[in-house]
Amino acid sequence: MTKIGLEIHCQLTHLESKLFCSCKANYREFEINENICPVCMGLPGSLPRLNQEAVKKATVIAMALNCSIPEKIAFFRKNYFYPDLPKNFQITQLNIYGDTSIGGEGFVIVEGKKIRITRIQLEEDPGRLIYEGSSSKNQITLVDYNRAGTPLVEIVTEPDFESPKQVREFLNILSDLLENLGVSDPGLDGAMRADANVSIEGGNKVEVKNIGSFHDLEKAVHFEITRQNSLHSRDISIIQETRHWDDKRKITVSSRSKEEDLDYRYFLEGDIPWISIDNNILEKLKSEMPESINSKKERYISKYNIPEQVADVLSSDKFYSDLFEESHTDSNAKEIANIITTDLMGLIDTREKRDATKMSAVHLRDLADAIISGKISRNSSKNALYEIVKTGNSLPQIISDLDLGNVSDESELTVIIQEIITSEPQVVEQAKSNPQTINYLVGKVMQKTKGKADPKLTLDLLKKLIG
Ligand SMILES: [Zn+2]
Repeated sequence: MTKIGLEIHCQLTHLESKLFCSCKANYREFEINENICPVCMGLPGSLPRLNQEAVKKATVIAMALNCSIPEKIAFFRKNYFYPDLPKNFQITQLNIYGDTSIGGEGFVIVEGKKIRITRIQLEEDPGRLIYEGSSSKNQITLVDYNRAGTPLVEIVTEPDFESPKQVREFLNILSDLLENLGVSDPGLDGAMRADANVSIEGGNKVEVKNIGSFHDLEKAVHFEITRQNSLHSRDISIIQETRHWDDKRKITVSSRSKEEDLDYRYFLEGDIPWISIDNNILEKLKSEMPESINSKKERYISKYNIPEQVADVLSSDKFYSDLFEESHTDSNAKEIANIITTDLMGLIDTREKRDATKMSAVHLRDLADAIISGKISRNSSKNALYEIVKTGNSLPQIISDLDLGNVSDESELTVIIQEIITSEPQVVEQAKSNPQTINYLVGKVMQKTKGKADPKLTLDLLKKLIG
C-alpha cells in the first residue's frame, strides 16, 4: 500500500509584523534587504518579542483542524547553518517536554477518510535565496533577508494518504479553510510550501523536500510514486533518502545530504517565556472564528433553497461567499448565487482579473433584482455583467447605453405580436387547439426582439390576442 505524509508550511500572510520583531510581515512590497532589523538579522544583543496575533492565528488554525491545544506552549532553537538563516538557528516549536506545540492530534476528513494531523507548530520563515547564472559552475547565490522571521505555521500529517488524488483533495480543503479563517492567502506566491514523505509496499520511506506550491505538491507525489513503482518492478531496492523537487524539470532528484533530527541540537529558546493559553482565551477565539465553510453551505441550502452543488462552490471560496453575503437579500439570494457561479466565476477567473474588477455588491444586487422583475432577460444580463466588471458603470446606465432592457411595454409588444399572428396564420390556428404550439410563437417574438421581450408578458399577450 502507498503511504504519503505531508509537512505543510503556510505563511500567516494577514499579519502586520514578523514573528519576533516589528518588521513587516508583508515582505513582498520591499526592495531587497530593506525589511530587516537587528532582531530578524540575529545581531548580538538583540532580543525577540513574540507577536501575540501570530499565536492567536495559529491557535485558530489548530482549532479548525480539530487539534488539542496544550495549556502552555514553548519555543525552541533549531540550530543549523545555511545562508538564508541569519541567526544560524530557527526559532520553532517541538514536543520534547510533553506537548508544547500550538496544536496536536487533529484530523481532517478527506473523501470520507480521516487524515490525522500529527502536530501544528508556529515558527519563523528563513530568508530567500536567489540563484543567478547560467550553469552550475558559474552560478552565484544572492540572499534576500526580507522574509527572514515572517510567521509560518507548519502542519504535519500522519502518513494517511494513499494517492495523489487524496493529497490534492486535502490541499483544496486546507487552502479553502485557511482562506476562510482569514489567516492566509494561499494564492500568494510562496505562501504555501511543502515536504512530502512517500513509500510504497515493501519499500523504504523517501522524503521529498522543497516543493514550492500546492500545485507542484500533487505532481511531486505522483512522480515519486511512479519512480518507486518503476524501481520495484525491476527488483531495484528503494533506498531511504531525501530528494529535492526540481520545479523546472518536474522531477525529484537525490540530494545526497543526510538530514536527521539529532543534527539540529534543539534547545529551549530562553529569550521567550512559556506562553499559557487558558480556556478563556480559547473560548474567546472560538467565538470570534468566522462561520465554517460547511455551516455556510448548509445555510445556503436550507435558508435559500440553493442547489447543493452551487452552495458547495459558493461557500468554499471566500471571495465569492463574501460577495454573496454582502449583496443578497432573502428574495434574490438564489438569483445572486446563480449569477456568481454560472457567469461571474468564468468572467474573473484569475487573480489579476479579480483584483481589477470594478464590480461591487450593489451592482450584483441590482442585476439580480432586474432579472427577477423582468427588466432584463437572463441572456442580456450576461452582457450587462461583462460591462459592469469592465467599466463599473451603474446597471441602469449600462442597460440604456447598450439597449439591453426588456421590451415590457404592452403596446410596443402588442404591435410585434400582431405582425407575427398575421404572418403565421396556420400556427395560430393550431395554437387554438394545442397550447404547446404557442411556445413556437413566443420563440418568434423573442427572435424579432433579439431575446428582449418580457417572456411572461409575451405569453399573456399571445394568449389574449389568439383568443
Ligand atoms: Zn526585523
